[in-house]
Amino acid sequence: MPLSVLEAILERSPVPPLPNLRANPSSSVTVVNLIFPPTPTGQPIHSEGFGYLIPRDKNGHVEVLGTVFDSCALGAQDEYASAESPRFTKMTMMVRLQPSSLPITQERILQHLTTHLAPPTPLPEPVYFKAHDLRDCIPAPSVGHVKRMKELAEVLRKEWDGKLAVIGAGVGGVSVGDCIEQGRRVGEGW
Ligand SMILES: Cc1cc2nc3c(=O)[nH]c(=O)nc-3n(C[C@H](O)[C@H](O)[C@H](O)COP(=O)(O)OP(=O)(O)OC[C@H]3O[C@@H](n4cnc5c(N)ncnc54)[C@H](O)[C@@H]3O)c2cc1C
Repeated sequence: MPLSVLEAILERSPVPPLPNLRANPSSSVTVVNLIFPPTPTGQPIHSEGFGYLIPRDKNGHVEVLGTVFDSCALGAQDEYASAESPRFTKMTMMVRLQPSSLPITQERILQHLTTHLAPPTPLPEPVYFKAHDLRDCIPAPSVGHVKRMKELAEVLRKEWDGKLAVIGAGVGGVSVGDCIEQGRRVGEGW
């Protein structure tokens, strides 16, 4: 549930406003989606795998956080006319949100990929390239999060008689799977 809707509900409640959901910072990223056409030689652009992550350098800097090889991780979603059809390569790259003076360009992303993948032949021109800025999309739970969430759940349970619960990545878990599990637990009455 969006925070604004939750806050509107809580405003009508006799419970004093709780700062519990405002305590954690969130990180922002730019997500870059790329699709490459089959290479002229038919060689794959990268080896099989889920993708890779890049740690910060010794000065704490990092531009590209990591890349998911979607054609491997989610290959079952791709449909081809036959098993022999040449394969496209889909990737998702997560990039640290850059200042507006340094916009993400296709050229810069291809330079990064060339460094990371060291392909035997130059990367083909992508048939699809899209960069989306996602602000404050990754909650970063800080010390005391678990206690704050327990407190919040307790207040909601007491004051709303079990009719209102807050779930989601900002509350507990890190992935869609965790959100679904939380929803199920709430639906089943914990
Ligand atoms: C780059 C990236 C890659 C990821 N990859 C994966 C993956 O491969 N597999 C996986 O399982 N998980 C992945 N995740 C995690 C997954 O996306 C999250 O765990 C999940 O989306 C969290 O769901 P949610 O409902 O808690 O929050 P969200 O999906 O963030 O939904 C919250 C919604 O509330 C809206 N909102 C926020 N504040 C307000 C406001 N004040 N007023 C109105 N609306 C508001 C937002 O716009 C948003 O639509 C990824 C996350 C990121 C950022």
